[in-house]
Amino acid sequence: MHNRRAALAAMATTASLALALTACGQNGSGGSKEDKGSAKGGTIGIAMPTKSSERWIADGNNVVKNLKAKGYKTKLVYGEDDPDTQVSQIENLITQGVKGLIVAAIDNKSLNNVLQEAADAHIPVIAYDRLILGTKNVDYYASFDNTKVGELQANYIVDKLGLKNGKGPFNIELFAGSNDDNNTKYFFGGAMSVLKPYIDSKKLVVRSGQTALNQVTTLRWDGATAQKRMDDILTSSYKSQRVDAVLSPYDGISIGVLSSLKSDGYGSKSKPLPVITGQDAELASVKSIIAGEQTQTVYKDTRKLAEVASTMVDDVLNGKKPQVNDTKTYDNGSKVVPAYLLQPVSVDKSNYEDVLVKGGYYTDAQLK
Ligand code: BGC
Repeated sequence: MHNRRAALAAMATTASLALALTACGQNGSGGSKEDKGSAKGGTIGIAMPTKSSERWIADGNNVVKNLKAKGYKTKLVYGEDDPDTQVSQIENLITQGVKGLIVAAIDNKSLNNVLQEAADAHIPVIAYDRLILGTKNVDYYASFDNTKVGELQANYIVDKLGLKNGKGPFNIELFAGSNDDNNTKYFFGGAMSVLKPYIDSKKLVVRSGQTALNQVTTLRWDGATAQKRMDDILTSSYKSQRVDAVLSPYDGISIGVLSSLKSDGYGSKSKPLPVITGQDAELASVKSIIAGEQTQTVYKDTRKLAEVASTMVDDVLNGKKPQVNDTKTYDNGSKVVPAYLLQPVSVDKSNYEDVLVKGGYYTDAQLK
């Protein structure tokens, strides 16, 4: 740790020296555009999990934009949800001499060896949205309040069903994210802190009986996997009953669950779709919300997250302490990783226009 700090400090000195030299060049005669780019800090490697979900495409593009504006070059790679691919991509980035790494892990425990290589090469690492576990070699964490994401989903269900007004009992089924994503337990934990009292008092009934996290996870957040699980649940537990709500942690899963429900005849006056949550405000889901199918999503502004992560890496490379607002929650098994957490926002048909369109995330034309 000590050596690492010394190395970071040395790097920071080099970076400030480089900055000073650039400044001289600009004041004098020799400052070309290329000089400015390379002197600022070289290339940052960005490793994202998959292009199969829009949010990560937006994240990648936004990080690139932010880093370019700060004078860096960037190398952006996508691991296509395969942990081994992500490891070799990060190894390549290290070999190519990147000055910093921003990583959204596919499998939170598969990166220990490669991050040791990064540490040996004095490359600072920012965990992007998903915490990397079991290694000291992660410097900062940029994410959202992940517990709150689950609370927003569950509170939405509670409100929509009128549970606080004594209505019920209702049938609910629970879905969680990938078990190798550290966020999964925070989302599910947040949601269950709200839902459990109603399950205990039987105002919410989980007819499948599947309420433990290890019974409800969805490997790699795959919509088709969720669709298959919902098919099985409908067949085994809802022959003569209707499902009234589905806790879904992510829009891709919501779309899978919706397909299953629709094939089972849900979506008519006599058999309405259940309340169904989501996350990420992906285009297909916002359109589905507008069409009255998915009910809610949790919006996380990836523009802001990209800005936080880019500023973190820039600060570290310049010997500045990045701004954090949580130094307690995110223990990765080796250390508590200092974090900056942004606030998620619940979105449904009533506020998507205000939040997503007025907020500049989507244009009205995109939602048509
Ligand atoms: C992110 C979510 C996303 C999920 C699936 C999680 O790590 O925090 O925003 O829905 O991965 O991509």
